[in-house]
Amino acid sequence: MIEFAETASCRNFGITVLGSGSKGNSSVIHGTKGNFLLDAGFSAKELAARMEDRDIDPCSIQAILVTHAHQDHTKGCRVFGKKYNIPVYIQQETYLELKEHYEKYAPEEDVVLITPGSAFDCCGVHIEPFEISHDVAALAYIFQVEDHKIGYATDLGWMSPLVKRKLHDSQILILESNYDPVKLRNSGRPISTIRRIMGRQGHLSNDEAMSSLGDLITRNTRKIVFAHISQECNDRVLVNDLAMKQLADLNREDILVEIASQSTPLETMWMKV
Ligand SMILES: [Zn+2]
Ligand SMILES: [Zn+2]
Repeated sequence: MIEFAETASCRNFGITVLGSGSKGNSSVIHGTKGNFLLDAGFSAKELAARMEDRDIDPCSIQAILVTHAHQDHTKGCRVFGKKYNIPVYIQQETYLELKEHYEKYAPEEDVVLITPGSAFDCCGVHIEPFEISHDVAALAYIFQVEDHKIGYATDLGWMSPLVKRKLHDSQILILESNYDPVKLRNSGRPISTIRRIMGRQGHLSNDEAMSSLGDLITRNTRKIVFAHISQECNDRVLVNDLAMKQLADLNREDILVEIASQSTPLETMWMKV
């Protein structure tokens, strides 16, 4: 069973969700040899402010890892990467897409091309990107230090067998729970947008996220953060209620639940390695 660390001396593997939602996504992964960012979907200034809010020195960030090209994941990539002189890990398709559609967010130099399924190490963390189904090339990640694992998946339209296999047995799981289908249908959005979000290349609904938990959690799972909550088509209280009910049905009321916020960073979740 994993031990959650409380004291500074034990703080050697963890995650701080700086914010999540359609207006920006970014988390700091704290490794045994330093910190790196997973997505940089806020301006460089906003990223630094959110880090400082959680007592994280922006100068401690040693790399940026990118999930996909959408601007809510890449807005600060270029400027933050350049300002702190750090490499950006990105898959080729995403890099080319950024260059074509969001040129001002594309990293200028120090680009490290990564491939889904090919693991690499950064800041003492073993990292494995894997493919998820979205309307652009997109990655989810697992982060491991020894037998401790953080799984992170947002912006996916389908909980594929690969995703289930990879996220299985995470001690800390960050999982999208994007929309409530009724709220989405009644949102007044164009039908094509609604279909895109609900489709296999869109986002995970609350029901899809909750019903997958039985396949993902194990006795090692300690915490689940539901993320990328739609501000218009979902409700953080509703997501929390659904999660509590689902975990009660699974006899796992011991698992801590948090709902990521668009505006406020969460407390850092630490594991003792
Ligand atoms: Zn997104
Ligand atoms: Zn996206």
